[in-house]
Amino acid sequence: MQALTNRVKAVERKPMSFFERMYLVAIFKGMFITFMHIFKKKPTINYPEKKRPFSPVFRGLQVLNRDAEGRENCTACGLCAVACPAEAITMEAAERKEGEGHLYREEKYAAKYEINMLRCIFCGLCEEACPKDAIYLSETFTPADYQRKQFIYNKEDLLIPHPVEEPEAYKKALGNKAKKEIIN
Ligand code: SF4
Ligand code: SF4
Repeated sequence: MQALTNRVKAVERKPMSFFERMYLVAIFKGMFITFMHIFKKKPTINYPEKKRPFSPVFRGLQVLNRDAEGRENCTACGLCAVACPAEAITMEAAERKEGEGHLYREEKYAAKYEINMLRCIFCGLCEEACPKDAIYLSETFTPADYQRKQFIYNKEDLLIPHPVEEPEAYKKALGNKAKKEIIN
């Protein structure tokens, strides 16, 4: 067969000796290595019963933020989508109607907002680009699933709970962001 590169190396195949064919030395060597590992500190943990603490700079699942009154911060400016190197964000803008002032902070809002988690590399550039503090990366990671379509997260999946109607869930969703805001 013709080689595709010149890195091919012919390997000498010596016939195995009698002892090598018995595999006893190899078996004992393998067992010795396994035995030595019994006394070493285990690098693995029993996940999900035990969980490692996240690094302070961990970037997980995106959250769409609301203000203190529960109004959506996002004004559908599209800066996060432009900043995203993976082109994972899509959105559709809509005009706020009369009587919707309690729902959306600005006159324009995202009627549709989607992030494709199969594309996202959790770089955090969407958070950096946002001028409205409307998106941030939380300490939660995207749950595993069997279907690709489950990884397209829409606005309902991403929106933080209402701070007035669900204060506990809101506080939990804020996570590290709340701590950072207190420090700053
Ligand atoms: S974290 Fe990075 S890759 Fe993911 S949506 Fe934001 S900008 Fe795109
Ligand atoms: S999340 Fe921020 S950057 Fe993205 S569209 Fe909304 S306001 Fe603009």
